[in-house]
Amino acid sequence: MGSLEHPNSAPADPPSSVPEFNPLDPEEFRKQAHQMVDFIADYYKNIESYPVLSQVQPGYLRARLPETAPYRPESFDTILNDVRNDIIPGMTHWLSPNFFAFFPATVSSAAFVGEMLCTAFNSVGFNWLASPAATELEMVVMDWLANMLKLPKIFMFSGSGGGVIQNTTSESILVTLIAARDRSLNTIGSDKISKLVVYSSDQTHSTFKKACKIAGIFPCNIRTIPTTVDTHFALSPVLLRMTMEADVSSGYIPLYLCATVGTTSTTSVDPLQSLADVANDYGVWLHVDAAYGGNACICPEFRHFLVGIERADSLSLSPHKWLLSYLDCCCLWVKRPDLLVKALSTNPEYLKNKPSESDSVVDYKDWQVGTGRKFKAVRLWFVLRSYGITNLQSHIRSDVRMAKMFEGFVRSDPRFEIVVPRLFSLVCFRLTRCVCSELGDTETMNRKLLEWVNLTGQVYMTHTIVGGMYMLRFAVGTTLTEERHVIAAWELIRGGVDKILKGC
Ligand SMILES: *Cc1c(COP(=O)(O)O)cnc(C)c1O
Repeated sequence: MGSLEHPNSAPADPPSSVPEFNPLDPEEFRKQAHQMVDFIADYYKNIESYPVLSQVQPGYLRARLPETAPYRPESFDTILNDVRNDIIPGMTHWLSPNFFAFFPATVSSAAFVGEMLCTAFNSVGFNWLASPAATELEMVVMDWLANMLKLPKIFMFSGSGGGVIQNTTSESILVTLIAARDRSLNTIGSDKISKLVVYSSDQTHSTFKKACKIAGIFPCNIRTIPTTVDTHFALSPVLLRMTMEADVSSGYIPLYLCATVGTTSTTSVDPLQSLADVANDYGVWLHVDAAYGGNACICPEFRHFLVGIERADSLSLSPHKWLLSYLDCCCLWVKRPDLLVKALSTNPEYLKNKPSESDSVVDYKDWQVGTGRKFKAVRLWFVLRSYGITNLQSHIRSDVRMAKMFEGFVRSDPRFEIVVPRLFSLVCFRLTRCVCSELGDTETMNRKLLEWVNLTGQVYMTHTIVGGMYMLRFAVGTTLTEERHVIAAWELIRGGVDKILKGC
């Protein structure tokens, strides 16, 4: 590369007189922010004109951008232009109404303006004193949401528990696992960590294993209980009990069970009641990961999936997955906040203050991995107040209705089958075995179909393999998706099958 001259990149000697500049000039801020809002509104308005799945090749961006940051300032318009020309083509448009992959991320105007405020204050809120409103609003909002979910008081600040906004499910699992680990090690001795065993099913999110690794659980002590199609890939309490029994008789100590309400592959739901029986019998910390499915439980017709939650130790769910909040926002409730604090608290001199020492306040730094934290509660508060419980319920129901409609389309076409029952707004389906054997096995055919659909750029879907079965996932949930998009997606998929089957 050498010393190629770029007019704007060579760090020359600093100019003798540095011009005054104020990076937060209120009038300049007003101008740029207004311009950016217009840019974003146009982006949302035109989002369907872009291919949903980005079509760029790896490394595309480095080839387009200069090698070094500019020495002299560039204009806002120039930067925005580059966003249009260089960044947008490399985006996979998660907010496109034709995005049906993974679990879509739901957003809203209320969450956006709430986020503006959260960012604007930049309150860093590690403890109560760092911004009392940030901590106290989070406590209120977590109790509100707990109420919407009909959680028992033992998970609320108005009872004996409490909630906290984490960044992701991964962190919710990690901090509760560490709380459980330390509670146990305090009794049995810290040299016994090799005896601690944790449990989940083969459908539990992969982040569970990562959390175990970070928490120092021995990899050979992570039990992954197999599931089957007959029980729709839910964790079997019978197998769980057998596994724990065997562990105990070999001298191991059962520590933690991660159950799931709405697994990532197929949205299966583990039976909380009977799993709690087992967990309680063995004194195991029961965490319920309801990242996606838990959001639906604000509707009475879905609340039964949480029956038994009063016997769990912690529950996490992510409003960024289904409750119109931008990333990231994972709500975690625990019955015993003191165990989190015991495991995670720090008390350096520079953070010491009277309210914290008086024990009359919550210092959220002791409930999470990091120290600093954003004022995310304000965003959630805007969402809850702007839409009310009624509109949030309607939003969930409308997605479920559209998924049901899609499920009906699939059932009406004999070339397809539904692989596992639809519980929420995800449909798992595939071309059946007998459609065309000359094209290869079921998996090859379905892979071809998925590739064909995604290459059109008109729709983005993903796949999974569960119980050895390759299947397509159609997840309804972006805020902009309407019935017509679901209908068009089905037409596209059907057209794809016709194309693929031609000459068969
Ligand atoms: C999405 C998802 C996760 C991962 O969530 P992060 O917030 O990205 O860590 C974990 N568990 C389930 C069931 C999920 O659906």
